[in-house]
Amino acid sequence: MKATTNETHDPALQSWVKSANAAGSDFPIQNLPYGVFRRRGSHENWRSGVAIGDQIVDLAAAAKSARSAFPHEASDALQAAAGHTLNEFMGLGHAAWSALRLALSRGLRAGSSAEALLKHCLVPQTEAEHSVPARIGDYTDFYTSIHHATHIGSLFRPDNPLMPNYKWIPIGYHGRSSSVIVSGHDFKRPVGQVKPQGADAPVVRASQRMDIELELGVFVGAGNALGEPIAMAQAEDHVFGFVLLNDWSARDIQPWEYQPLGPFLAKNFATTISPWIVTTEALAPYRAAPPERPAGDPAPLAYLDSPENGTHGAIDMQLEILLQTPKMKEANQRAARICLTNYQYAYWTFAQLVAHHTVNGCNLRPGDLFGTGTLSGPNPDQAAALIEITHGGKQPITLPNGETRTFLEDGDSVILRGWCEKAGHPRIGLGECRGTVLPARAIQRDQDDRATD
Ligand code: MN
Repeated sequence: MKATTNETHDPALQSWVKSANAAGSDFPIQNLPYGVFRRRGSHENWRSGVAIGDQIVDLAAAAKSARSAFPHEASDALQAAAGHTLNEFMGLGHAAWSALRLALSRGLRAGSSAEALLKHCLVPQTEAEHSVPARIGDYTDFYTSIHHATHIGSLFRPDNPLMPNYKWIPIGYHGRSSSVIVSGHDFKRPVGQVKPQGADAPVVRASQRMDIELELGVFVGAGNALGEPIAMAQAEDHVFGFVLLNDWSARDIQPWEYQPLGPFLAKNFATTISPWIVTTEALAPYRAAPPERPAGDPAPLAYLDSPENGTHGAIDMQLEILLQTPKMKEANQRAARICLTNYQYAYWTFAQLVAHHTVNGCNLRPGDLFGTGTLSGPNPDQAAALIEITHGGKQPITLPNGETRTFLEDGDSVILRGWCEKAGHPRIGLGECRGTVLPARAIQRDQDDRATD
């Protein structure tokens, strides 16, 4: 486990990039998250960058003109990180990640001799657009919140809410990577096969129960060879970092299709992630013990257990969902918070996800993505999906302007935010993960209504 802090976490550090020192910035010098960007509207090459305050350090520019500011190992890592995705850098492993983080931290500190070189590599974040930061070979979505699993299970299966395997296995399914999109890219409401209550046969229509799932995305760094499991003791070394993830879900498509093989078209039309990957190393000061398992719950099996996991396998990270309707946008009203939860409540830690995913020898590759599953906490205001918040669509929520919602309507925007704060340490944030539901495409008549011809 690599949950130890070092000089890059020193709360006293200040940057010569002044905006990084402002209280409330998501990106102080202690954070240094990685993303892929170019100037908005340009045809420039996509390249990697590091967020600092309201600026981006262009790593491709730094690799060209500022390599002398980076010691040998960091210089090699910089070269690997300078490409149009982060996969090569992710594959180098934690020693290389740590070397580049240290060099960037030293170079961006107030008084650094590298300021003159690095200041020419800055691009304002307001001028940037982002792409998905890695080529995602495989995407796996888990189900790590027992509060979510119990609540949603009681809606889908009132007599059998929590399956008997839940407390033994980190439940997951193989998702789809091709439809993972970056914050700000909107998507059309999905069309699909739905079986209305009481109907004899299904119909094809636009989903009427469009939902959100507040999750974290976990980016795998160095992979493992096929056939060689990753043990708990090494699991965190394979995790590059974290993004916010919205697993948009069509709750009327889901119940008709999900048995017996799990979620399919209800989930794979869009998954939005935030652009900046906050590294596992940056999160070291905010590590926490996972919740104690209630009396009677089984202890994790040996391959899912380690002493470190029990003491600081979790992360104390606040997470929120904000909703902004078209009427709120027209009236210039701010997005309204509909959930505030914490990653710390998860039943399974991210190290356990890595150990479980590979116990059979399945190989992970740099840039693979895990979703944690909806991160609902134990209290009602910590429910992290509309299906939970509205009790299956039966109890609408009322927004500050008086509008109500059960599920999302066309034009609704959802913003996820996340941050860590702890006494004696600066606040670091994940930025935001934003998406807007656009109207569904028109359904072709021959698909919808063959019988009338
Ligand atoms: Mn999910």
